[in-house]
Amino acid sequence: TIRTRFAPSPTGLLHIGNARAALFNFLYARHHGGEFLLRIEDTDKERSTQHAIDVILDGLKWMGLTPDSPPVYQSQNQPRHTEVAQYLLENGLAYKCFCTPQELQTMREQAMAEGKPPRYNGYWRNRDPSEAPAGAPYVVRIKAPQEGETMIQDLVQGEVQVANAELDDMIILRTDGTPTYLHAVVCDDHDMGITHVIRGDDHLTNTFRQLVIYRAMGWAPPAFAHLPLIHGPDGAKLSKRHGAQSVVEFREMGFLPEALCNYLLRLGWGHGDAEILNREEQIALFDLDGVGRSPSRMDYTKLTHLNGVWMRQADNTRLTEETLKRLTLRKDITVPPPLLTQRILTLMPGLKERAKTLIELADNAAFLGQKTPLPFDPKAEKLLTEENITLLQQLAQALNALTRFEREDIDQCLRAFAEQHTLKLGKIAQPLRAAVTGSTSSPGIDDTLVALGREEVLARIHAVTH
Ligand code: GLU
Repeated sequence: TIRTRFAPSPTGLLHIGNARAALFNFLYARHHGGEFLLRIEDTDKERSTQHAIDVILDGLKWMGLTPDSPPVYQSQNQPRHTEVAQYLLENGLAYKCFCTPQELQTMREQAMAEGKPPRYNGYWRNRDPSEAPAGAPYVVRIKAPQEGETMIQDLVQGEVQVANAELDDMIILRTDGTPTYLHAVVCDDHDMGITHVIRGDDHLTNTFRQLVIYRAMGWAPPAFAHLPLIHGPDGAKLSKRHGAQSVVEFREMGFLPEALCNYLLRLGWGHGDAEILNREEQIALFDLDGVGRSPSRMDYTKLTHLNGVWMRQADNTRLTEETLKRLTLRKDITVPPPLLTQRILTLMPGLKERAKTLIELADNAAFLGQKTPLPFDPKAEKLLTEENITLLQQLAQALNALTRFEREDIDQCLRAFAEQHTLKLGKIAQPLRAAVTGSTSSPGIDDTLVALGREEVLARIHAVTH
C-alpha cells in the first residue's frame, strides 16, 4: 500500500511551499487509497520549539490535511539512527574520519584552487584508524560510490542523473555522535515504510546522497517526486517582499482554507481546465503526472479571486462566526454579540457576495455592530443634504407605519414613497443607505433594513435628522 509523509522541520512557520507539499502528499495517498503520515524533523534542538510544532499541527488541521497516525518525532528515533550508522561502520560501508577543521579547510581551499567544488577527498576512507592520535574526535562518513552514475526516475522531473564522482563521502554521524539530517531521513523513511517521497526540488541533490545510504543498507528506496518551487509574481524566489508566504499569514489575511488549498493545488498542477475543486474532486483527480516541471508563480490576485468564489459557496453560519470573531476585537463594535450575530446572519447572503476575504467581509458588516452616531464615510456624508434629510424624516414615518417589517413590505413602501415624490428609487435608497450604514455600499437596501430591524433603522434615521 502507498504511504506518503510530510516531514517539516519545525522552524516557526509553515511556508506555503511546504504546505503545498503536504497537500500533494495527502492527495496522492488518498487518491491511491494509501496512508499519509507526518514526521516532525525536530533534530535541530535549537530551532525546534513546541510553539513551532504547534504552528505546523494547527496549519495542517486548518487545511484539513490530517495525518493518518500520530506524528513521528524524528528526535525520538535517534538511537535507531545511531544503530544503523554503527552497522554501516562495522560492515566497512562507513568509516571514521579524524580530519580536524583545519585540515578540512585546507582540503576545501585546495579543491577550489584546482577549480573543483569543495569536497571531502576521502582521506580516511582507506586509512587505518590507528593512525589517528589516541582519543581524537571523529565523524562517521559513508563510502559513496566513486565511479559510474546514479539515476533516479523522478515522478515529476523524469530521469535525473549525476556522476558519482560528484558525491563525496558524506557525514552520517557528527563528532558528538548525533546523526545528520540526511541520515536520519533515510532511516525514518525506511522504518516508516514510506513508498513515495514527495518534496520540494530543493531536495533533489539530497536524494542522490540519500540513495547512497539506501544502497549501503540494501534497502529498496522509495519512489521520488520533486516538486518545483513556488516563486514570487516576478519569477524570483518567493520572499517577504512579495507578500505573505506562510499559512498563518494567509489565514490572518482572511483567506478560507478551501481557497488556499484549491489555489495551491492549481499552482503547478492541472487537470484540463478544472479550476474550482472541492476536496473530494481533488482526491479523485490528483495524480503526479499532472504536476508541471517548471516553477510556479504566486499570484495573489488570483488567490483573492478564488477566495471570493469559495466565500460565496461557504455556509452562512460559519461565515457569521468568522465575522463575529473579527468584529468583537474592534473597539467601535458595541452591539452585544447575540444581537449582532442575528443581524450578521440575516444579512450574510448579501454580504458574502460583496467580499473577497474574511477581513473585507468583517469590514462590510461592521456597521451592524456600531451604535449611533455612526462613523460616516465622506461619500455618505455628502448624501445627507438638507433636502435628503427632509425626505428621510418623511420616510421614517412611512416605515414606522408598516404593519410588518419584512423585505417585500419595505420594498413596496420605498417604491410607493419614491413614486409619491416623483423620484427614482435610487434617490431614496442612497441617502437611506448612507443614514443606516454610514457608507454608500451595502447589500440590497431591503435586506439591510431587515437585518437592522425597524427600531434600529428608525433610531439611525433619527440620529441624522435631528
Ligand atoms: N525537513 C525537510 C524540510 O522541511 C523536508 C525533508 C524531506 O521532505 O525529506 O525541508
